[in-house]
Amino acid sequence: MKIHKNLDSIINSIPIDVKLVAVSKTKPIDQIKLAYDCGQKDFGENKVQELVNKYNSLNKDIRWHMIGHLQRNKVKFIAPFIHLIHSVDSYRLLKEINKQGFKCNRLINILVQIDISNDNSKFGFSYNEFEELVNKNEINSFKNICVKGFMGMASFTDNQKKIGLEFKSLNNFYLKYKDSLKLDTLSMGMSGDYKIAIEHNTNMIRLGSSIFGSR
Ligand SMILES: *Cc1c(COP(=O)(O)O)cnc(C)c1O
Repeated sequence: MKIHKNLDSIINSIPIDVKLVAVSKTKPIDQIKLAYDCGQKDFGENKVQELVNKYNSLNKDIRWHMIGHLQRNKVKFIAPFIHLIHSVDSYRLLKEINKQGFKCNRLINILVQIDISNDNSKFGFSYNEFEELVNKNEINSFKNICVKGFMGMASFTDNQKKIGLEFKSLNNFYLKYKDSLKLDTLSMGMSGDYKIAIEHNTNMIRLGSSIFGSR
C-alpha cells in the first residue's frame, strides 16, 4: 500500500524524538485506517466538524490534534477528547478553551501559534504579544490549560534560507521559555519544509500530502 510505504520511509528518515502527526484533513476514513493499521496514532485535522465526525468513526486510542484556526464557539465540540490544540492564536481563545476544559473536567494541552512568516495570511501571536502574556503572568493563569509549547508555519516560499531563518527564530524563542514555562513541544514542519525544521530542533512535524498524497 502506498500510505504504508510513505509512512515507513518518513518514520525511518526522521530522528526518533520527532513526533509525526499525520494530517488527514479532507481524507476519507478508510485512508486513516490504513495509516492507523501501520501503527500511526497521531492525526491532525483543521476543521472541527470533520474532526468530530472522524473521532466518532474511528478507534478511541487515536490522539487527535487540532491544527487549524479554531473559532471560539466550536471549542466545546472538541474539548472532551482533543489531545493537543496547535493553533491557539488569541487570548480570547485561551479563555474559552479554559472554560470548556473546566466544564468537562480536563486539562487541555495546547500550543501557542506564533506568526513566524510574513505572509499576512497566517494566524498567531507575534513574539511580542506572547512575551506580554508571560510578563503579565497571564499564560499560566488558566487552571484547565497546559501550555506545551509553540506551533509555527513558515512562509509559503521556495526560499529555503528564509524558511530556515523563520524556524531558527522560533526555536530560539522556544529555548528561551522552555525551562521557565516547562515546555516540551515545538511543532514546526510540513511536507514541503519538515527537513529544514528538523535542522532547527523541531520535535513535532505535521505531514499530510507526503503521507496521503496531494489534496
Ligand atoms: C494542511 C496542514 C499541514 C499539512 O500540510 P502538507 O503540506 O500536506 O504536509 C500542516 N499544518 C497545518 C497547520 C496545515 O493546515
